[in-house]
Amino acid sequence: MTPTGDRPDGPADPAAAPVPDHVALARRFGTPAYVYDLDEVARSLRELRSSLPTGTRVYYSLKANPLPALVAALVTAGCHTEITSSGELDVALAAGADPAHCLYTGPGKTTDALGHCLDRGVRFFSVESGTDLRRLDTVAAGRGVAVDCLVRVNGAAAGGSGLRMTGTASQFGVDLADVPALLDTAARCHAVTVRGAHFFPITNAATEDALVAELCGSIRTAAWLRERGLPLEVLDIGGGFAAPYARPGPPVGYPKLADALTAELDERVAGWRDGGPRLAVETGRYLVGTSGTLLTTVLDVKESHGRRFAVLDAGINHLGGLSGLRRLLPTSAQPVQAVAKEADDVGVDLAGPLCTPLDMLGHGLALPGISPGDVLAIPNVGAYGLSASLLGFLSHPVPTEVVVAGGRVVSASRIELRREHVPVVD
Ligand SMILES: *Cc1c(COP(=O)(O)O)cnc(C)c1O
Repeated sequence: MTPTGDRPDGPADPAAAPVPDHVALARRFGTPAYVYDLDEVARSLRELRSSLPTGTRVYYSLKANPLPALVAALVTAGCHTEITSSGELDVALAAGADPAHCLYTGPGKTTDALGHCLDRGVRFFSVESGTDLRRLDTVAAGRGVAVDCLVRVNGAAAGGSGLRMTGTASQFGVDLADVPALLDTAARCHAVTVRGAHFFPITNAATEDALVAELCGSIRTAAWLRERGLPLEVLDIGGGFAAPYARPGPPVGYPKLADALTAELDERVAGWRDGGPRLAVETGRYLVGTSGTLLTTVLDVKESHGRRFAVLDAGINHLGGLSGLRRLLPTSAQPVQAVAKEADDVGVDLAGPLCTPLDMLGHGLALPGISPGDVLAIPNVGAYGLSASLLGFLSHPVPTEVVVAGGRVVSASRIELRREHVPVVD
């Protein structure tokens, strides 16, 4: 049986570091446990940079995984950070991020969160509406600081696939038709200056062609808006970079992307080669998705009405993110160690430990001979794994998160959910 993490189909990497020994890690730290491989994070970042025009700024979206060691690795490697809460800012700063290199995005920014970020040096925001812009201006002016912003644009649909976030009715961004009014509002602001456009039309694009179509569409929209008065010092075309989730699969490559973006920029956005505008992208999934593995132990194997169930010590409380986000459940897991005894043809359903029939991680899997005590490794869960799950549901302990680099453990930690008492004031 091949240890997970070994990817015979993935791009060859001569500098590949040793693959983490998941069985040994499960013994050492117990299960359930998440294991993240920093060498894989570094490989993903190299691959992404080689798929983009030289000089493109890469933002790491903490939403995908705010584990401090991962954030620190990406910040050290030169990524900027894309944050959407004061909690994410605190993680980014603790990981060594320069607040001047943080971009604060997202709808529903509160006065408190804006104040928290401004007090810690964040000066770059994506604004989602006139109200959002005026609130930022009020909070910044109240502190006497000048800030820059991008206008998040709900651009025209370019077709393609993936979860669409713009181009139709959406809580995200400003409709194209409303951008001039927003610029009028900006002209009356005291503390905020518009520096460019922000797009984030899809996540996890199904194909390279779909991604290219979407990103080039955003470039065209930005060029169109620049002709109509939108300042364009920064062009953040967002992302949509894909990664496999919770099943074996090689990292995704984008061999055509850099040339396609370069050609589109040359045609539409004069000046970009000299940094006017500066191109930026954002991704969480692509940078960390393939770095993470969930180790889980089989607690019970039972038959019911002709079906076989393996009950695991991890369920949707530890790997539920995409179901919470109404995306597909993970559908397959890959054993770490040889569990084959005798081939049998009964597919195994993987159930978690929670008292709900919805706690299923996989269906009809070929896991011959699976037995209590076996350790399974669910690969490619570095993004939208633990922090996107139903951590508080049924109050099981939170999995340990183990970080490895060069085949060695560099940190291990566990999130603790704690109730704090709040003063009751009449
Ligand atoms: C979620 C999100 C991202 C990151 O998406 P990935 O699929 O993890 O790359 C980036 N930017 C914005 C605005 C987002 O909402």
